[in-house]
Amino acid sequence: MLNSTATLGVDVGGTRIKWVRWIAGAGIAEQGQLPTPRTGPAGVVEAIGALAGGQQCDAVGVGVPGHLTDDGRGTRMIPNLPGEWAGLRLADQVEERIGHPVVLTNDARAFARAELDHGAARDLANVLFVTLGTGIGGALALNGKILRSRGDAVGELGHMICRPGGRRCGCGAIGCLETVAGGSALVTCARALGSAAETPDDVVRLAESTDGPERGVLLDAAQALGLVLGNVLAYTGVNTVVIGGGVASAFDAMRERVQLALAERSGLIGTAIIRMAELGPIAGALGAAFEAIEYADARLTLPAPGGT
Ligand SMILES: [Zn+2]
Repeated sequence: MLNSTATLGVDVGGTRIKWVRWIAGAGIAEQGQLPTPRTGPAGVVEAIGALAGGQQCDAVGVGVPGHLTDDGRGTRMIPNLPGEWAGLRLADQVEERIGHPVVLTNDARAFARAELDHGAARDLANVLFVTLGTGIGGALALNGKILRSRGDAVGELGHMICRPGGRRCGCGAIGCLETVAGGSALVTCARALGSAAETPDDVVRLAESTDGPERGVLLDAAQALGLVLGNVLAYTGVNTVVIGGGVASAFDAMRERVQLALAERSGLIGTAIIRMAELGPIAGALGAAFEAIEYADARLTLPAPGGT
C-alpha cells in the first residue's frame, strides 16, 4: 500500500486546472491552480506534465470533463474543452514524461468519490451527485461505491434530454439539461433575452435585484433540473442528492422550484434530500488523487515483467 506516499490529483476544467497534493494518512499537503491552456490538448498535456514533474509525488490522477477511451488511458469526448480530444493518450503521455503511474477519471465521478469518502456524503451509501459548472456532470453511488463503467461514462446527468427541439448541446444532441441549466447556458439564455449578464453569478445577482429576464431563466433552469433529478431518482431508487461544482451557488436561486418538482414525485421517490457539497472547488482534484492511490496500489500488486 502507498500509505505514506504522496499522490497528485489534477482537475482539468474549462478555465482552470486545479491540483492538490495528498499525503495518505496526513491529508492535503499543497494545492493550487493554473489557467487551462487555450492551445488545445497538447498544451494541456504539457501543463499537466510540467505540474506533475515539479511535484514530489508517486502517482497522479487526472480528472477530465468528458469520457475516456475503453481502456481508460486516453480521452474520447470532451464537449466543453476546445480542440480534438478523441484518442489522445493523455495518461500514457504524462506517465512517460514523469515516470510515475498516471490514471484518468471523469471529473464528476472524481468529485463524487471525494464527497463520498470525505465530504457531504460520507455518512451515506446511496447518493446522486450533481456538479453545476460550465456544463453539468453527475455520478451515482450505490451501496457505498461510485458506479463506474467502460470509458467512465456512467452518470451523464447533464445530457438527459429535457427540451426536445431545444438548443444544440456540446455533445451533439438537442435539448440536454446542460443547454438549459449549465453555467454557460444560464448566461447564453439570459443574454438572448437582452440581459447584460456575463457570468452565472451575474445572472443570479440580476435575478435578485432587477425585473430583467434573469429570473425567468433561472426558473426555467430549475424546472429542467427538477424534472431530470426526479427522473433519475425514480429510476435509481436513490433519494439523496449532493450538489457541487463551480456554479453550485446558483442552485440557491433554483432550490425552491427543484424541491417542488421533487415533492410532486414523493409517492415514488419519498422525501428527497438535497445537500450541498462540502469540499469546495478542490473536490474534483481530491477525488482524482484518491483514484491515483487506488491505481498505483493495483499496479504494485502486479508481478514485475520477467520477475519471479
Ligand atoms: Zn448533451
